[in-house]
Amino acid sequence: MQKLKFSEDLCKGCGLCVSACPKKILELDTSRVNSKGYNPVICSNEDACISCAFCATMCPDLVISVDK
Ligand code: SF4
Ligand code: SF4
Repeated sequence: MQKLKFSEDLCKGCGLCVSACPKKILELDTSRVNSKGYNPVICSNEDACISCAFCATMCPDLVISVDK
């Protein structure tokens, strides 16, 4: 089951969610940019996600939603 959903084009690449994740599975994808011109956040290992939603809580732009 997909736990994380990203409204990728809303992401401004600030990295707050990357710092907030206790499992260290979020990163900015430096190989591409979204429609705003920022490197969007991606999850490198969704299987390791514990659905704590710290990332979603931290994001000022409501980019991330977490299914429990
Ligand atoms: S829900 Fe928690 S473990 Fe999963 S990506 Fe977000 S901060 Fe990391
Ligand atoms: S906190 Fe939100 S805007 Fe900032 S990098 Fe993460 S998803 Fe993107």
